[in-house]
Amino acid sequence: MTSDIFSSARLPPRHDLKPSSAATVSAGTGPGRPPAELLRRLRARHSADPVTHVERVPARAGEPAPWPRWAPAELRAAFARRGVVAPWRHQAGAAELAYAGTNVVVATGTASGKSLAYQLPALSTLLADPRATVLYLAPTKALAADQLRAVAGLELDGVRPACYDGDTPRAEREWIRKHSRFVLTNPDMLHHGILPGHAHWSGFLRRLAYVVIDECHAYRGVFGSHVAHVLRRLRRQCAKYGRTPVFVLASATSGDPAATAGRLTGLPVAAVTEDTSPRGGVTFALWEPPLLPADPGADPAVADLTQVRRSALRETADLLADSVAEGVRTLAFIRSRKGAEVVAANARRALDEAVPGLGDRVAAYRAGYLREERRELERALLTGDLLGLASTNALELGVDLVGLDAVLICGWPGTRASLWQQAGRAGRSGDEALAVLVARDDPLDTYLVHHPEALFGRPVEATVLDPANPYVLAPQLACAAAEAPLTPADLELFGDGAKEAVDSLVEAGALRQRPTGWYWRHRERPEVDLRGEGGAPVCVVEASTGRLLGTVDGGSSHFLIHPGAVYLHQGVSYVVDSLDLADGCALVHAEEPDWSTHARDVTSLSVVSVRSYVDAGPVGLFLGEVDVTSQVVSYQRRRIASGEVIDTRPLDLPARELRTVAVWFTVSPESLALAGVEAADIPGALHAAEHAGIGLLPLMATCDRWDIGGLSTAVHPDTEAPTVFVYDGHPGGAGFAERAYGTAAAWLRATRDAIAECGCESGCPSCVQSPKCGNGNNPLSKPDAVKVLDVVLANLPPTDAPAVPTAAPGSRPDGQGDRSTRPAKATGGPLPGVPHQSA
Ligand SMILES: [Zn+2]
Ligand SMILES: [Zn+2]
Repeated sequence: MTSDIFSSARLPPRHDLKPSSAATVSAGTGPGRPPAELLRRLRARHSADPVTHVERVPARAGEPAPWPRWAPAELRAAFARRGVVAPWRHQAGAAELAYAGTNVVVATGTASGKSLAYQLPALSTLLADPRATVLYLAPTKALAADQLRAVAGLELDGVRPACYDGDTPRAEREWIRKHSRFVLTNPDMLHHGILPGHAHWSGFLRRLAYVVIDECHAYRGVFGSHVAHVLRRLRRQCAKYGRTPVFVLASATSGDPAATAGRLTGLPVAAVTEDTSPRGGVTFALWEPPLLPADPGADPAVADLTQVRRSALRETADLLADSVAEGVRTLAFIRSRKGAEVVAANARRALDEAVPGLGDRVAAYRAGYLREERRELERALLTGDLLGLASTNALELGVDLVGLDAVLICGWPGTRASLWQQAGRAGRSGDEALAVLVARDDPLDTYLVHHPEALFGRPVEATVLDPANPYVLAPQLACAAAEAPLTPADLELFGDGAKEAVDSLVEAGALRQRPTGWYWRHRERPEVDLRGEGGAPVCVVEASTGRLLGTVDGGSSHFLIHPGAVYLHQGVSYVVDSLDLADGCALVHAEEPDWSTHARDVTSLSVVSVRSYVDAGPVGLFLGEVDVTSQVVSYQRRRIASGEVIDTRPLDLPARELRTVAVWFTVSPESLALAGVEAADIPGALHAAEHAGIGLLPLMATCDRWDIGGLSTAVHPDTEAPTVFVYDGHPGGAGFAERAYGTAAAWLRATRDAIAECGCESGCPSCVQSPKCGNGNNPLSKPDAVKVLDVVLANLPPTDAPAVPTAAPGSRPDGQGDRSTRPAKATGGPLPGVPHQSA
């Protein structure tokens, strides 16, 4: 029915959808259009083919296994009512391990049925032992609510599953503590509510058989490091009641899941990684938006800068509109909340221009929305009222969407793990599906769409977290001490650095040492936010109505909702009137200006200590602690249509201090001169290398370029040499700079190649320009950046290839130099500096 309308060879040109497409859409979603055919139609609209590679991911048949002998008939019957006639082999394998008492992580693809792997042993135990209890942790409330529906739907006698989170009415909480045997919550509630109130939970913890940690790949970076200690606090309380619960973890596919799960729980964990569930085939296309025509009136000296590609957001919006017009149920993943709003608004506009009202079938979705708004959007997509959704990866967590025909991924999502997870939303029902990765105009995306071998047929990255981060460890130990005095045996539980952290807490007057242990000295509990390294979330309120539009996390607030910022909510544009940081509130009014706003900051950096370094002749490579001071000082207003800068306006926001971990390299001026880099070009060469290096680091670690910052200088006072710094944007570090240090040669090789292979003449957003540069991308020297990196690579010993997963927990990257696992104390004495300079 849909095909006859579009059976002619070519679709209407972009932004010119004929009214006939309304008939297509109103006819319903219909059977999915074969992905190859849809892709052919999408790419046929460009004069130059935007597709750089097509990968066919074949369909796979499932491998069923018999039910474990210990699974009660009642449970098998309940699963059968839900349509599960037998487990897949990987589900049964993980369930057997857990039932036998082995901590296990099941790390397989989206929709591979990870829940059955933990439901089977957990629910079997609850049915066999009428006293046993299970604690289930999800990274979001929405996911816990989904799981509650699934478990409650099994209608098992005496299990009484219940969610216990911030939304649970007070009146129900006591009943849940006393009577529920399957409690679903999140790490925040465990941290703020359950562990501090452990006395109320003693009955539950005394009988705790399993701890289920769902979507455990979400626990990365600083948040992951906090959660690792919340789990150690849970284990400590269980041990007091004589319990050693079995941990069952579910993860998206990730590199070395056993090691990551071990780091997260502090326990040995076995891994089940072979996915034996059936899967529909996916046609996966890599898509590079076309270069925009050069501006004929531009000054030839800067003409190269005007040679930019069509933005990935606009390209994705068009693809979304085109897919929706074809009646294809499509989900577009966009990295930023702002981007999701822009894609939805543009797709809606394009569809409405064709047929008024057609745009209503497209919406935006992101984590900052209020609960009711999210639920409504989820419902509409499931029922088909909506055909297109532009989403941040908030959707990855907590929503069980099925039946999508196409997934558009706007920009590299940061990791191969996320890529596969997002692409896995397509074709879940077993039908053939289409996935498209649309490259952004940045070095990493450009590199990837031209190096498909870096994406396909490679293991995914390891999830990086660092429980030894002293900025996480000390506050967590304070929380633990407030729950029960700390003993020397406890310090072992909390791992490397715990003794130093406790000493610092005693020194600061937070703990008192007594013969029986360390005691928390205050009446109030310590205030520690697991997610809020940037401070509490800031509420965005419409001034005229007092309506709460959403929230922005504290760390992003200076950038996103400074006075004058344009803020988008559900495609409606608002302008910020004021930002009150003390009250955590921004007042806005509805206004649709034809510009966007871009905040700029200034940064300085000083070296505190060096953890480890490599002396490579004229090149030095370092890992250490640094102090970074940054301040958002102004914002640019740019025309939405052309990107033209209208003006730059000053801002009066406080500077923020960050002590964190950095990787940096130095190159001697003599070696740069030998390589043909003029002294005057050194700043631009280093700056360009820094930008591209930040852009490529996500290839090595589970971070994105917004997690990390950089600074480069021709002479840094602490190194006395030309230096490029790249640092973790989180207090105490998040493990990213450490990963960069461990894979430095591979990381800088990819950086060098990305710059050298870019087709532009003197630098573009695909290679050395950065969207977040505090200096407006000035100075930058593309050819000299390649020369700098050639000098570095000629001297640096080789390291692991990018695809090799992280080393086991506790171990450090192999290769070179001194490896203290804890940061060296700042001595105040001279730093190692640049070893080669004394030669
Ligand atoms: Zn370029
Ligand atoms: Zn810059």
